[in-house]
Order: sequence, then C-alpha cells, then structure tokens
Amino acid sequence: MKVPFLDLSLQHQAIRDEALAALTATYDANRFCLGQDVTDFENNFAATLGYERALGMNSGTSPLHVASVLGGFGPGDEIIVPPFTFISSAWGISYVGATPKFVDIDPVTFNIDPAKIEAAITPRTKGIVVVHLFGQPAPMDEILAIAAKHGLFVVEDCAQAVGARYKGTPVGSLGDVGTFSFYPTKNLGGCGEGGALVSKNEALFNRAKLLRVHGSGRRYYHDEVGFNFRMDGFQAAVLNVKLKRLAGYTARRQAIAKRYREEIKLADVILPATVGYGDSVYHQFTIRHPNRDGLREHLAKHDVGTDLIYPVPLHRQQCYAHLGQGEGSLPVAEKACATCVSLPIFPELTDAQVDHVIASVNAF
Ligand SMILES: *Cc1c(COP(=O)(O)O)cnc(C)c1O
Repeated sequence: MKVPFLDLSLQHQAIRDEALAALTATYDANRFCLGQDVTDFENNFAATLGYERALGMNSGTSPLHVASVLGGFGPGDEIIVPPFTFISSAWGISYVGATPKFVDIDPVTFNIDPAKIEAAITPRTKGIVVVHLFGQPAPMDEILAIAAKHGLFVVEDCAQAVGARYKGTPVGSLGDVGTFSFYPTKNLGGCGEGGALVSKNEALFNRAKLLRVHGSGRRYYHDEVGFNFRMDGFQAAVLNVKLKRLAGYTARRQAIAKRYREEIKLADVILPATVGYGDSVYHQFTIRHPNRDGLREHLAKHDVGTDLIYPVPLHRQQCYAHLGQGEGSLPVAEKACATCVSLPIFPELTDAQVDHVIASVNAF
C-alpha cells in the first residue's frame, strides 16, 4: 500500500463540480480582483470561525508584512519570533527593516517558550510574532502577560492553525493582529495563493484595509504608502466552497491524529504534545525519534511518505547569519530540526492507509 505524504488531488476531485461552477460564475462576472466573492469569503470566514471581521489577501506572507506596518515596526526595532517555523514568520519583520530576535521553543509543544521571552527583551523590543505551529495553539496567556508588561505589539501567525481555539477563543483574535495563509497545502487551501488578516481592533483593521490596496480608500487618493495585496476572485470562489467543509476536514485530521496517538507504540518515539488550553487542528503530525533518518528510510521502503518540517531553524538560515545567533544558541529548536519527522495527515487518508502508517512506524 502506498501512502503519500500529501495528495491534494483527492480533495480537489471531491469538490470538482462545485468548485468549477463557482469559478465559472466568477469568470463570467469578471470578478477578478476583490469583488463579491472576496467579500463573501471575508464574511463567511469571520462568521464560521468567530472573528469580528476578516480581510482577504494575496498570500499568508502579505498580512505578516502589513502586521509589521500596523505595529509600527521599523529599523532599530527588535521583534521576538520563534526559530522553528516557516521563514515567512520572520519576513514581515525584515520587510520593514526591523530585526528578528529568535527565541527558543518549548521542547514539548514546539511553540515559543514564554519562559525564555523575557530574557530576550531589550529597550528596543517592540513586538512578538507568535506562531501556532503545526496547528497547536501557543500559550497565549503567558505571552500576552509579558507583552502587556513591556508594551509589545502581538502578531499571531495562524497560517497552520485555521479553526484552532485557545481556551475557546479563536487563534488570531487574542493578540493585536492575526494572519492566515490559504496556500494549497494549508488546512484551508485555495487553488493558488491566498491569505487573510484579522484584528479585534477596528482602527488597525481599517488601516490594513487601506494598506491592502495601495494605501487608498478612495480611488486615486493615497493616504499612505501601501501595497497591492488584494485577494483574487478565483481564490475566494474556491475558498467559499472549501470553507463549508473545513470543520469536517479538521475533524478528520483530529481523528487520524487520535489513532496515531493511541496506536503508535515505537520505543523512543515522542508524539506531539496535547495541551489543556486548546486542541490542535493538526496541520502536521510531527514525531521525534533519535534515529529520525533511519526511521524515514524505513518508512520510505514501506511506501509511507514523510517530510522534514523543518530541517533548518530560521536563525541558521543564510539570510539571517549576520544576526549572530549561531549554532548552539537555540538548542531546543536545533534539536527539533534534527529529530523531527512529519507523518501523512490529510483529511482524505483512508483508514487502511492510516493502519499502514501505524504498522510501518511500529515495525521500525
Ligand atoms: C505557509 C506559512 C506562511 C506563509 O504563507 P504563504 O501563503 O505561503 O505566504 C507563514 N507562516 C507560516 C507558519 C506558514 O506555515
């Protein structure tokens, strides 16, 4: 039996007729850039997931960039961010000329370790980018308390955590700004690039809305230097079709995770942690093993696809070498990169495929 790490075609085949009908309607109405599909998606997204308002954008990186503008980040400012995440978590900081300050992660949850944040704060620290990694909510109470004490602006990168809640509150609405990605591989993925920004603060949200379209609220009048970060109509049309199914997709991811958790019995394996303050939406199911590479090879021989997410922490990337956070400086993240392997976890996996993954891991 073959179990790919990820196969998007199954989801797209399952909704093919409905998606193509929606895309055709958008095509026929020429609703290409923003427009009714995007407005509908923004309203549906906010209503379905529990946000006051949402802004559709052209990627998950763009709202992180806008969030840095909203936070007033700039040259000389230091912004705290975890090193064990996708690079975009730091891009928004760098795009405005601020400096990422990488703070190590918790060895159990993989999220930023609140106990290590305060030691990294200097008079230049202006904000924190929190990442809800692999779909697991980060410990927001502790992070928000530190932020309040030091007057820090809090951005939540929810690219991997759409639908996740922290103590009942949707992630992204705890800090000042929340950001999402609808890249095809995400839990809610479009057929191309897409993203969103949420904020409980109406003034910040309204400014983001202007920044999204050339700093312009009135055509050809530009209040500030803005961007072209519009969501396109085709993406919104497809996302409207998928959003209705997101709760089902998430439930299936969680059911697969439950089986992995209960039935993987390999010695020395560390399964993803569960936390008391919110359920993971399992963007990834990432396990650790001292012989990670051997385990990967073994799984490949059994036709089980795996991936290394992530092989290199951000502070060890060439683009951030000049920051001087060298090898050994953030040991927990470095160890995670060396010992983690992610198993297949997407809603369309069959029970037989899940059986095969479990049996193959246990046979190592
Ligand atoms: C995917 C991702 C992003 C960026 O999203 P794009 O849509 O690819 O720009 C940002 N942060 C994290 C944690 C991600 O996983």
